[in-house]
Amino acid sequence: MASASGGILNKKGKKSDRPKPRTIRMMVIPEPASNTRFVLRSANPELVAIRGQGNVRMICGNCGHPLAEKVKVVQLQSVVLYCHNCGAYNETLA
Ligand SMILES: [Zn+2]
Repeated sequence: MASASGGILNKKGKKSDRPKPRTIRMMVIPEPASNTRFVLRSANPELVAIRGQGNVRMICGNCGHPLAEKVKVVQLQSVVLYCHNCGAYNETLA
């Protein structure tokens, strides 16, 4: 019987130099008046609004729906993220 499982090494036990992923729950804010804040909405409700190169995942402060993946906190300061799941506006904690 031939084995088809050669070549794939288990990464377990190896040290990673990547920063540990963190999940941040955002703060729900009232809907901002137009043109006062930059509101980021995902074009596709199934996808996060923003994806970057960082290690932080941001979730809706109301329902826990993921709104941003692999971002850096500094990237999202003063940005408002709209949650398609529950309609909340979320702000990063300064
Ligand atoms: Zn939500």
